[in-house]
Amino acid sequence: MKPAPKTFHVKSFGCQMNMYDGDRMSELMSAEGMTPAEAAEADLVVLNTCHIRERATEKVYSDIGRLRKNGRAPMIAVAGCVAQAEGAEIVRRAKVDVVVGPQAYHNLPELVAKAARGEAALDTDMPVETKFGRLPARRRVPPSAFLTVQEGCDKFCTYCVVPYTRGAEVSRPWGAIVDEAKALVDAGAKEITLLGQNVNAWEGEDASGNVQGLDGLIRALDRIEGLKRIRYTTSHPNDMREGLIVAHAEVEKLMPFLHLPVQSGSDRILKAMNRSHSRDSYLRILDRVRAARPDMALSGDFIVGFPGETEADFADTLSLVDAVGYAQAFSFKYSPRPGTPAADMAEQIAPEVMDERLQRLQAAINRDQEAFNLASVGRRCGVLLERKGKLPGQLIGKSPWLQSVHLVADAAIGDMIEVEIAAAWPNSVSGVELVHEAA
Ligand code: SF4
Repeated sequence: MKPAPKTFHVKSFGCQMNMYDGDRMSELMSAEGMTPAEAAEADLVVLNTCHIRERATEKVYSDIGRLRKNGRAPMIAVAGCVAQAEGAEIVRRAKVDVVVGPQAYHNLPELVAKAARGEAALDTDMPVETKFGRLPARRRVPPSAFLTVQEGCDKFCTYCVVPYTRGAEVSRPWGAIVDEAKALVDAGAKEITLLGQNVNAWEGEDASGNVQGLDGLIRALDRIEGLKRIRYTTSHPNDMREGLIVAHAEVEKLMPFLHLPVQSGSDRILKAMNRSHSRDSYLRILDRVRAARPDMALSGDFIVGFPGETEADFADTLSLVDAVGYAQAFSFKYSPRPGTPAADMAEQIAPEVMDERLQRLQAAINRDQEAFNLASVGRRCGVLLERKGKLPGQLIGKSPWLQSVHLVADAAIGDMIEVEIAAAWPNSVSGVELVHEAA
């Protein structure tokens, strides 16, 4: 038995959705009257885990070991995808106090109270009814805020654990999303990024009972006064419907940035990954997107060294990168996730081959990213200021194309200012303020 915690620390790993969940857990703890503290001092530490991390499970056990150094014994809660995948095994192996899956974290305060009473506190249920209605209202939010609209995935890519840890695709209801978006804007958000494992698969009934896709939802959010920008991530190529592409041409607040993972440029590997799209169908989607919005910045995800990937398959990936010209992209070495079909496939690729391919891929992506940034020099655009820079008077914001813009301006965090891009680097650009528009 441990005393009821008075202070807490939430440590989140992984994707933006995990960061969002971590913030919501912090809000839950604050609503219970606990105060935030550093991990080394907190009475309760929540490890909000990510199963996409390499050797994710082992890392959680070493994180737990570190928290217990120097005779400390904080209450430890393991949340997120590793909690979902490991369940009671974590309690057995590491004697943690609470285990809570990503669809059950609204029950965290209850579980913490149970643990304080010395009772078992494990909840990895995936209830169909949404957890969101049980989360507290959000009072203070950054200028750029996240809003989860969809969770789970039905795609079952052969390398991925998400369908097992986050469950089937579920869309939050229209009204709940619109209300939360309005509350975020009232609390100071100027930009909202709609989050989902397959965000563009979102579907729901609007206030009149008509079935809408993500484009309909975006058009509804577009009408919220005070909201200046809308983004969404992560999308699946197969759910990139015409209405959403048209919205990019018609909705001014919808930013010209699309993160559309492809994973490989080889049809043979895409089939083995069960991606359910081909190289050609992916490229045709991007053509339609660029026809709708010519200045669209494109982003993607790649896995190198998927089982059976030959040098010819990898050459197809490099040629796809050349064909697209990404503004940015994420690339990773394949690493097997226990329980997924790919983990048991023959022809696993040697680590040194993966290393070498990853270096070549990243060189190509970096080249295109730098070229994209250089091509934006001279462009005029709005920049939403998000934080202070390291230099005196420096501010950092985001361009419509999700570039980090560094500048010095007589403005405050949360302001949207007009800027001319003045110089470019591989990972950022600098800008000069043109006119200061009141926020
Ligand atoms: S689309 Fe594939 S990679 Fe993305 S979450 Fe679903 S199964 Fe995982």
